[in-house]
Amino acid sequence: MSDPLRDPAEFPRRLYVRTFGCQMNEYDSLRVQRLLAPLGYVTVDEIEDADVIFLNTCSVREKAEQKVHSFLGRLRRLKNRRPHLKIIAGGCVAQQLGEKLLSRFEHLDIVLGTRGIGSIARLLEEVLEGGPRVACLPEADPSLAPGEEAFAEGNISAPVTIMQGCNNYCTYCIVPYVRGPERSRPVGEILREIRSLEDSGVREILLLGQNVNSYGRGLKDRATFVDLLRLIARETGVQRVRFTTSHPKDLTEDLMLCFAELGVLCKHLHLPVQSGSDRILSAMNRCYTAGDYLGKIRRLRAICPEIALTSDVIVGFPGESEEDFTGTMDLLREVRFDNLFSFRYSDRPNTRASAFPDKVDPAIGTRRLVELQSFQAEITLEKNLAETGLFREVLVEGPSKASNGQMTGRTTQNRIVNFEAPEWTSGKIVTVKITGAYSHSLRGSVILGPSTRPGNPITP
Ligand code: SF4
Repeated sequence: MSDPLRDPAEFPRRLYVRTFGCQMNEYDSLRVQRLLAPLGYVTVDEIEDADVIFLNTCSVREKAEQKVHSFLGRLRRLKNRRPHLKIIAGGCVAQQLGEKLLSRFEHLDIVLGTRGIGSIARLLEEVLEGGPRVACLPEADPSLAPGEEAFAEGNISAPVTIMQGCNNYCTYCIVPYVRGPERSRPVGEILREIRSLEDSGVREILLLGQNVNSYGRGLKDRATFVDLLRLIARETGVQRVRFTTSHPKDLTEDLMLCFAELGVLCKHLHLPVQSGSDRILSAMNRCYTAGDYLGKIRRLRAICPEIALTSDVIVGFPGESEEDFTGTMDLLREVRFDNLFSFRYSDRPNTRASAFPDKVDPAIGTRRLVELQSFQAEITLEKNLAETGLFREVLVEGPSKASNGQMTGRTTQNRIVNFEAPEWTSGKIVTVKITGAYSHSLRGSVILGPSTRPGNPITP
């Protein structure tokens, strides 16, 4: 319930977090919550209840940026009703627009660049004490702020950023401009964060970076991503490890072998291909051909036949002809991805592609996107249906949001499964027989519970 008369100095202070965009932003939003928790902030679900709103913005796609602007605009009325409310904008739009965002939205108190998260507590306290509105856009960001502890908010799965920024400069992408050059976190710091998450009940870690395959460049201890994976498997107790995102050019044989050799590594790889046309891949500056990509997929499947593959595709990139698009469809037909994230190209400010000629008519781009998505939906459903009758190990994440009384979890291939089980199974790995398949999830029944022998009922 909204409470305009509430004393803003009263504890606990209430924080509302809204995140747009990618998993890196999700992670930064978690960092904001953990940085503000020692100051007495608790996260609330209703924006109307908030004393502080943190809006984590995304500018990777045009639509996401538009949503941010309209969301910020709507907050003006809320601030009029609750003048003590403090509003903070972080993320890529904040980094890109900086002071301009402060001028455009007079009710905004703090603009925090992508490398400024660690300063949030200090800046917020200064503003609460009557300090001026501020845009904080530092050049460098220490990986974790001093005293910052990992926390998982009761989640079974938690992200851990292992690197920030990107050196690849794909011509359509804004990330290198807003997140800066690639910087890897030291191995010891990552291991400490994972152990701390484990202590708070986390069972699965998602390692995050714009291009995790190139982890370690520039680090004093010269560790590679494969070294990091092997250390996590050996020196922590997490049950599952996933990672995203990988660049195809940096996918090495050593990393492929990890899928077969490390039991802790989930059998799922997200490997963005973006296009099946060599001409378009070159214009995107992706540094591989469709043939290179297919060769790596064949090798990976030979090493680990049960691996699930997902990818990203952009249609309607400047200059994309029908023939180029057919090349993409052919690649999809050959690989048969388990799932796909596909988008119609849109110009992002300051990227090289935004200045390219031969923009594809939006109607043609949309037609291609619809064709591609309906083709992929058939493949995804076929692959899900093929799971029926199989026994899968599922890490139980908690009660299902969709279906009453059911629990939900994921297979190592990252498929969502809903099934009936007691709530105490949360955080355990159970064996589930897949009994039904839909476009986005599976249904199943638990066969073996944790700590049970075959045929025994599940017991806590
Ligand atoms: S690899 Fe390319 S698409 Fe991915 S973050 Fe870097 S520049 Fe952007």
